[in-house]
Amino acid sequence: MKILGIDLGGSRVKLAIVDDGRVLELNVFPIRSDMPTQAALDTIAAQAAGMAGIAGCRGIGFAYPGIVDMQNQRVLCINDKYTDAAETDFVGWAKERFGLELLLINDAAAALRGEMDYGAGRGCDSAVLMMVGTGIGTAVYSRGRLLTGKHGAMGIMGGHIAIAHDRPRPCTCGNVGCLEAYAGTWALPGLAREHPDFDRSVLKKAERIDYRTLTEGREAGDKVCRDVFQSALNALCTGAANLVNAYDPDLLILGGGASRIREMRSAIRAHLDRYCRGRVRVAAADNPEASVALGLSSLFEKREKRGENAFSEQL
Ligand SMILES: [Zn+2]
Repeated sequence: MKILGIDLGGSRVKLAIVDDGRVLELNVFPIRSDMPTQAALDTIAAQAAGMAGIAGCRGIGFAYPGIVDMQNQRVLCINDKYTDAAETDFVGWAKERFGLELLLINDAAAALRGEMDYGAGRGCDSAVLMMVGTGIGTAVYSRGRLLTGKHGAMGIMGGHIAIAHDRPRPCTCGNVGCLEAYAGTWALPGLAREHPDFDRSVLKKAERIDYRTLTEGREAGDKVCRDVFQSALNALCTGAANLVNAYDPDLLILGGGASRIREMRSAIRAHLDRYCRGRVRVAAADNPEASVALGLSSLFEKREKRGENAFSEQL
């Protein structure tokens, strides 16, 4: 069945027309996460209406970067972006604007579902996803199901597991010492500026400081790029080991653009081999750009085949 998949990120939106695990049309555009959710929905509706494939869609899957109550299809909590999400009626919006039913789910959970069915997780029944992007999104698939916990937060808070307590860095969630505050892309400019050699680094004149600029700078011999990259990598290794120790998976899937950095995968693999019991495979997401849309498609397909009503039964 053909659906519209909406992947709302911290800086861009990916709209995809998907049919049974095939992406037929993709529309990616930038968005500001400091706008209210209602304004973001207006922008999304206007962009979606312009897509050729929207005609004939039978549902909308909406992947949200926050804690989602799957039973009631509402956002419970969103961290420092898209205010008013908790008061927004997403189901009503989809019905009113498109006449379609809506599935609302956490974005990392949707991405992991996509990777389990169509990507790096095929053939595996227990995996953890760690998506390195603006923040660090995580999700857990255990014995054939996505974990949700009592309040929809199980497995998705890996970016906010504290990894430091001695002079910890503040996080956007209000806590201190979180993994995100050391390895989320949002934290990298601050980490770079605190380096004593920042004024002599290529980063001083860089438009953006992210994993790509750090990687390019390292290769060119820039000390600050090397140190900041290594520090973030150490944090990711610690975070990955915490997730593996907590959830005991067969596979750790690295998602987000940074997952393409080979050195990141090999460092995390070596760290897990050394410090975690058992052998945990480490793989990059097969479809980092489309895993969310594929996961949303999978949930609609499963429900149609099984004839059950609630999406929360299809995880
Ligand atoms: Zn935090």
